[in-house]
Amino acid sequence: METKRQWTVIRGGRLLDAAGHRADRCDILIEGDVIRAVGKPGLAAPAQTTVFDARGKLMHPGLINAHTHGHGGLAKGMGDRWTLELLLTAGPWLNGNRTTEDRYLSTVIGAAEMVLKGCTACYDLTVEFPTTSVEGLAAAGRAYADIGMRAVVAPMVSDISFFDAIPGLMEMLTPALRKDVARLKQAPHKETLKKIRQALRHWQFDHGSVRPAVAPTIPHHCSEAFLIGCRDLAKEFGVGLHTHVAESKVQAIAGLRQYGATLTAHLDKLGLIGPQFTVAHGVWLDADDMRRLGDRGASVAHNPGSNMRLGNGLADMRGMLDRGVNVGIGTDGSSCSDNQNMYESMRLASMVSKVQGPDWQQWITTEEVVHAATHGSAKALGFGDRIGQIAAGCKADIVFLDIEHINWIPFNDATNGLVHIEDGSAVHSVMIGGKLVVDNHKLVTIDLATLARNVESARARLERLNRDHRKLYERLLPIVGTYCPGLAKTPLHIHRFGACHH
Ligand SMILES: [Zn+2]
Repeated sequence: METKRQWTVIRGGRLLDAAGHRADRCDILIEGDVIRAVGKPGLAAPAQTTVFDARGKLMHPGLINAHTHGHGGLAKGMGDRWTLELLLTAGPWLNGNRTTEDRYLSTVIGAAEMVLKGCTACYDLTVEFPTTSVEGLAAAGRAYADIGMRAVVAPMVSDISFFDAIPGLMEMLTPALRKDVARLKQAPHKETLKKIRQALRHWQFDHGSVRPAVAPTIPHHCSEAFLIGCRDLAKEFGVGLHTHVAESKVQAIAGLRQYGATLTAHLDKLGLIGPQFTVAHGVWLDADDMRRLGDRGASVAHNPGSNMRLGNGLADMRGMLDRGVNVGIGTDGSSCSDNQNMYESMRLASMVSKVQGPDWQQWITTEEVVHAATHGSAKALGFGDRIGQIAAGCKADIVFLDIEHINWIPFNDATNGLVHIEDGSAVHSVMIGGKLVVDNHKLVTIDLATLARNVESARARLERLNRDHRKLYERLLPIVGTYCPGLAKTPLHIHRFGACHH
């Protein structure tokens, strides 16, 4: 069936020029889901083109979230003082007993929040226990397709349990606790690799909108054979690889103890690092690690909010950029940093760089932050230059901010305003692939009231079903909460914590 391509022309808006720190009036011509031309007001358009009125709006490319977890949606706000290791210990309580429908709902919650806050694409690492499934991944993919958002959906997988992955931790547990955590063992890697292969082979979504990837969760939570299997699958199917590398100091220490080399060096030895590879966080990368990533054309998803929320420290974005690493910006999942607000992540990326020392010339600029949250993230997602910019040939993923909103009164500097002032509340409309997903502050693709009802019944049921998992977490808390911070006090050649209490 031949479908007639729709023409749309956006007239009257002001287009962000991040490098120029300005926003001049500009018209945008769209055919179907692609931008055909960007030009001065009065841009020529074919007859019968639909006119989209953008007067009083600042237009910027849809923000791209380089790192999140759809499974975090249902766990939003469940904890406060969690280190990464306590969060991982809480995993069965937060994510246990989920049905396929729960996975869908959890992912929809995050996707809805992202588009309402000006984000048009994300990289989602989604977990299932004891292993990933074709149906679980399809449910996550369907959530993004229903919202009308682009996404990379990657099964987050491992074959070594958290308690086995941290050197010395298992020995700290009582025999009774050891028995209880033994029940939380992941499936053997061969089974998981088989499931991922099935999912990649039978992927039911259009790769231009919702595409798959592979995410071995944390390097030392995966055997070498498993990491190599993931690497080969990603290569065979031409998809991305994404893993949490040196997110916490505990991980950096564990890597050094286990491999006699950094986690990055270990992954490089196994051949995982290349242009399709994304490091999540990378707080505890050293200069050699960064150089290695830069030389191989790899990306880092920088999640400044999550890094502070979980007490992992302050990542060195300048060090990464100086060594040629592609840097994208992410929120991380709602169980680790709660909201899914890319404006906040951009603001924090700027702030976190500005507390790292007095040499202000080293601080990340607002222009660099915008570049990372658009171009940088787009590259990490593997969409190249098809998204993350408003230019001829790119997808029509455009956010319209209301410049009569208090955030933009006065309108001084478009780039600084976007990073340091905007918080998502001026988002008026969001277009993805030429279609309005948010119109006049309202989500048009799904009904939020229905979502709220469905989520509340799932939430109440899961709270009941995961009561025992919560009790187990509470028994493990004093041990993990003492042992891991102790490990993090091991001296290391790099420092990423903001300050010390003593
Ligand atoms: Zn993560």
